[in-house]
Amino acid sequence: MTFREVICKKIAILGMARSGLAVAKLLKRHGAKIFLSDIKGEEELSESISELKKLGVEFETGGHTERVIEGRLEAKKRGLATLSEVEIASWFSEAHLVGITGSNGKTTTVSLVGDILKNAKKEVSVCGNIGLPFSEVATTVSNGGHIVLELSSFQLEMIDGLRLEVAVILNISRDHLDRHSDMPSYKRAKLRILENQRPGDVAILNADDPELSRGGAVFSPGRDIKIKEGVRTLFFSTRREVGEGAFVRDKEVVLRTLERAEPIIPVWEIGIKGPHNLANVCAACCVASVLEIDGEHLRESLRSFKGVEHRLEKVLEVEGVKIVNDSKATNVDAVWYALQSVEAPIVLIMGGKDKGGDFLRLKDLAKKNVKYLILVGEAKEKIKQALGDSVSTKVAADMEEAVKLSRQLASEGDTVLLSPGCASFDMFNDYEQRGKVFKDLCREIFRSHRGSLGTRREKVK
Ligand code: ADP
Repeated sequence: MTFREVICKKIAILGMARSGLAVAKLLKRHGAKIFLSDIKGEEELSESISELKKLGVEFETGGHTERVIEGRLEAKKRGLATLSEVEIASWFSEAHLVGITGSNGKTTTVSLVGDILKNAKKEVSVCGNIGLPFSEVATTVSNGGHIVLELSSFQLEMIDGLRLEVAVILNISRDHLDRHSDMPSYKRAKLRILENQRPGDVAILNADDPELSRGGAVFSPGRDIKIKEGVRTLFFSTRREVGEGAFVRDKEVVLRTLERAEPIIPVWEIGIKGPHNLANVCAACCVASVLEIDGEHLRESLRSFKGVEHRLEKVLEVEGVKIVNDSKATNVDAVWYALQSVEAPIVLIMGGKDKGGDFLRLKDLAKKNVKYLILVGEAKEKIKQALGDSVSTKVAADMEEAVKLSRQLASEGDTVLLSPGCASFDMFNDYEQRGKVFKDLCREIFRSHRGSLGTRREKVK
C-alpha cells in the first residue's frame, strides 16, 4: 500500500496513546477516515482526547465497542490486515530506513547509531519503540536522510511491506515469552525484519547468538534464517573474528570490509561498559560501515556516548560507594550482563513482577560478584528460593526500605546496583518511574547520615 491509497479509506486505530495519536494525525492529514478506540477511560486519556477533538476525528474510550470489533471482523473477512503503526508510517517516509531489533540492547544501539550519524553531520531521526513514534517523523526526514527505527517483536509481528535497507538483529533470548506463547513464534516475529529486504540491502546479525548464526570457520546465518537473494550479510562478534563485519581482537574493536580490516577503537576507550555493550558497539560499527561513516567520526561517538537513562546509568558516588540504576533490566539476561559490567562487590537490588525468568542462571555470578542481595516486589520469594543459598539475602517491603538497606550494607569500594530482572508493574507504572524513584531515594538516603536512617542495623545482619 502507498500513502496515496489511504485517501477516503476507513481505518480503525486501536490505542489512543502517543503512537495511536501520531498515526491518527498522519492518516487524517492524508485524507483517511479514521476512528480511534481505547480500553482506557476518559480520565486517563484526557490529553489525547483534547488533541483528537481539535483534529475533529471520532473516537471511543472505556472499551472496544461493536463498531471497532465489527470493523476488525469485517477486515478479517475481507482479507484486510491488522497493521502496526510502524508499517503505516513507512508508507509516508522517503528516508533510508535502518531497523534494529533484538531481545536486549535495542534502545542503546539505536541511540548510539543515531549519535554516530549526527556526529557525522547526517540528517537522522531515531524513533519507534524507543518512545518517539515513527509516525511523528515519517514525513519530516528527507529522502537523503536516515531514520533509525527501534523495532519490538510486537511491532514486527504486524508489518506487511515495511522494508529496512539495513536490518540488525542483536540477539534473541527467552524474554517476552509471557506474551509470545512460544519461542518459535517470538523468533519468527523478530526475523520479519528481514522479510521485505531487496538486493543491495544489508542484514547485520550477531555471530555469537546460536539462534542467529551457525559458527564454524566462516559464519553463516542460522538454520531457519532466510536472507533474501542479493542482500549482503554482515556479522558482529565479541568472541571471534568474522569475515565481513565487526569483532574484537586484542582488546580492540576491528571493522572488516571486503577490502581491509580497520582497527576502530580500544575497548577501554569506549564510553559504554560491559560485554553486552561491546556487542552493541560492534553492531553499531557494522551499521556505520554500511553507511560509510568515516573512522574518525565513529571513534568520537564511541568515546563520548555514555548510554541511555535507566541502563547501567551511574547515579552518584558517596563515600566510595557507586550507585548504578539499571531499572530497564526487566529480564534475567540483562541482570546477567549487569553483574559483569559494574565493579564488584555488588549490593544488588532485584525483584518486581516476574516475567517467567530463570533466576537460577544468576547463581554463579551472584556467588562471585554479589555481596548482598536485596529483594522487593512480587517475585521476591521466587528469587530468594533460587539465589538465597548462594548469597546473603534480605527482603524489603518497598523500594525505600531496599535503598535504606543498601545504604547500611554497602561500604567503600562497593557498587549498589538496581537491576531488577523483573517488570515493574506490581509497584510502579513502568521501568522509568521505578528508575526515577530509585534515583531520588538514593540521592536523599545516601546523602543523609547513616545513623539517621530508619532501618536498624540489627535487622540486617
Ligand atoms: P531494549 O531496548 O532492547 O530493551 P536497552 O538498550 O534498553 O534494550 O537495554 C535493556 C537492558 O538490557 C539494560 O539493562 C541493558 O543494560 C541490557 N542490555 C543492553 N544491551 C544488551 C545486550 N546486547 N545483551 C543483553 N543485555 C543487554
